[in-house]
Amino acid sequence: MPADLEGMLDEETFTKARLYALDKSSFGAVSGLFSQATSTLMLVYQGYKIFWDLAGDSLDGLGYSSDHEILQSILFSTYLSIFGTITGLPFSVYSTFVIEQKHGFNKQTVPFYIKDQIKKFFIGQIIQAPILAGIIKIVYWGGDHFYLYLWLFAMFMLLFLMTVYPDYIAPLFDSYIPMPEGDLRAGIESLAASVEFPLYKLFVVVGSKRSTHSNAYFYGFYKFKRIVLFDTLLELAERNKLKTKEDEEKEKDEEVDEKAAKMGCNNNEILAILGHELGHWKLNHVLKNLLISQVQIFLMFALFAFLSKAKPLYSAFGFEDAQPVLVGLMVVLQFILAPYSAVVNFAMTNLSRKFEFQADEFAGDLGRAVPLRSALIKLNNDNLSYPVYDWLYSAWNHSHPPLLERIEALKKYQ
Ligand code: ZN
Repeated sequence: MPADLEGMLDEETFTKARLYALDKSSFGAVSGLFSQATSTLMLVYQGYKIFWDLAGDSLDGLGYSSDHEILQSILFSTYLSIFGTITGLPFSVYSTFVIEQKHGFNKQTVPFYIKDQIKKFFIGQIIQAPILAGIIKIVYWGGDHFYLYLWLFAMFMLLFLMTVYPDYIAPLFDSYIPMPEGDLRAGIESLAASVEFPLYKLFVVVGSKRSTHSNAYFYGFYKFKRIVLFDTLLELAERNKLKTKEDEEKEKDEEVDEKAAKMGCNNNEILAILGHELGHWKLNHVLKNLLISQVQIFLMFALFAFLSKAKPLYSAFGFEDAQPVLVGLMVVLQFILAPYSAVVNFAMTNLSRKFEFQADEFAGDLGRAVPLRSALIKLNNDNLSYPVYDWLYSAWNHSHPPLLERIEALKKYQ
C-alpha cells in the first residue's frame, strides 16, 4: 500500500479494494471485447438492414402496409432493444450476481432482478416510441431547416423528462421516502437556507434493496429543488428510523449484515457532502452542463441534416432504396460522430473533474473541509473504490478526481 494512504485505509480494505478493482477490470475487458465483436458482426452482416426488414415483415404480417415508416422504426428499435437486452443479459447477470455479490455489494434477489429488467425494458419502450415518432414526423415536416425544429423538440423532451422522471418514473423502481424529522433533517435545512438553496423536498431513497453503494444528489428546476440521499449513506441508527413496522417484522429473522452495519457517514459528514453538492448548484455546474449538451445536440442535428440525403450513408449499411430517418440518425450518431464524441467525452470528463474540485472548495469555504475529508475517505472505503490509478488512465476514465488529489486540495483549509 502506498505510504500516501497511511491513516486513510487499512491494509485489509486496501486489499479488498484492489481485488474488487481487478475483477471489474477483467470483466470490463471481456465485455468490451464482446461488444466490439457484436458491433463488428452487425456491420459485416448489415445488421440494421436485417432488423429493419424484420420489422417490415412483422408489419406486413399485422396487415399494415410496409411503407409506414414511423411504425416500422418503432418496431425496428424494439427489435434492436430486444437483441441488445438478450446479448447483454449474461454480462449484467454476471456483474450483479457474481462480481458485486462476491465483493458484498449486491442486495438484489433473483425475482427482484427479473422484475426490474422487465420493467426497465417496457418503460424504456414506452418513453422511446413517441420520441421516435416525433423525430420522424419533424424531419419530414420541417423542410430544409428541420434540424432547428428537431433541436427545439429535443430540448423540450429533455426538460420534460427531467421534470417527470424523478416524480413519476424513478419511483417505479425505488421507494423515495421523505426524510424523517430529526437532527439530520434540521441540519440539512439550515445548511440549504444558509446558501439560499430553494429546498423543496428532502428524500431518502431506499437503494439498499439494490446495492450497498452510496450516493447523494439534487435535482429539480427553479424553486423546486429536491435533495436525495441514499439510505446507504446514512449510519445504521439513522437508517433504522426509516424502517416501517412491516420491514422490522420481515427482518426479525434475518442476520444482521455486519458490513452494512458499519457503513455510512455521521451527520456532520453528510452535511459536508451536501455542502459539496450545493456547490455544484451555486456554481451553476448543472446549468453549464445543460448548455454544453444543447450545443452538442444542435451540432449533431445540423450534421445529420447535412448528410441526411447522402446515398452512401445508407447504402453502406445495406439500405439501397429506402432512406429511413432513424437509420440515418443512428449512423451519424454512432459511427460518423464516434471520433468527435471520443474527444468531446474526454473534454467533458476533464471539465467534470474541475467542477468536483470547485464543489469541494465550496464545501471548504463553508467550513466543512474536515468532515468532507473524512466523508470522502469513508465513502471511498464503503464503496471499495481503488485509490491509486495511473494519471493517464484517470484522465481518460474518471469523472471524479482520485481520492488523494481531492484530499490534497482540501489541505489548504487545515
Ligand atoms: Zn460532485
